[in-house]
Amino acid sequence: MEGKDDIFLSMEEAISAIRMDFCQYPPQTDLFVDLSPLILGPHIRVVNESRYNGLWISTAGCKHTRKRRKITAVELGWLLIDTLAASPPPPELMTEICRLTFLVPAEPSGNGAGSEAGVRLQMGAEGFRCRHCGRCCRELNYRNELIPDDYNRWQALGRADILERVATITRGGRIVSYAIWVEPGTRRFLETCPWLMAPDPKSRPDRFVCSIHDVKPEICQQYPGTRKHARMTGCPGFDR
Ligand code: SF4
Repeated sequence: MEGKDDIFLSMEEAISAIRMDFCQYPPQTDLFVDLSPLILGPHIRVVNESRYNGLWISTAGCKHTRKRRKITAVELGWLLIDTLAASPPPPELMTEICRLTFLVPAEPSGNGAGSEAGVRLQMGAEGFRCRHCGRCCRELNYRNELIPDDYNRWQALGRADILERVATITRGGRIVSYAIWVEPGTRRFLETCPWLMAPDPKSRPDRFVCSIHDVKPEICQQYPGTRKHARMTGCPGFDR
């Protein structure tokens, strides 16, 4: 497995990436339950029991000796991270943990003499096809995600129509941040992206279209970035 979108993570980097994933999204209860036996070991059992109102963690054993307590998904996430950091698993096990966490093919790597042990992940966007559902444009908050390169590009292209919908915050005469999209001449955010064209019942009944597609902001160009990010933000582009 080797491709241009492969990335190698050392064990330490893999733990940092998992920590970032856990912090980036709301608590991922099902994932945490699936990871528990891999990270906490077979003597700890975590179950999600809706009839008992949530997650329970217990040491394995007979029902008389088993200690059982309730745990929140946030606490379980931190317990998993702390356990990983305190005693990193072997690369094969870390590979499985990464595969479940990032939803991409993974394999152990760097076990040869002199090379660092870690995990190789296939991060490519194979299988992605934009469905033009417009969900990302309508539902995600990217108001503060514009970068200087976007702004400078539109200036170079003379796109006053786009620039007038960008609010800038300046300090000492320098622009320090941007906000999109606003009513021209104001700092009032527009409720929806002004460049998103709704489906046309005659010519494209199921397709939203971006009217600045070729020059759209970097944040829009990069979205969804990964299969995991798509899954977590409601993008159906990777679904088969
Ligand atoms: S949510 Fe995904 S599939 Fe839908 S328009 Fe955005 S990128 Fe395309």
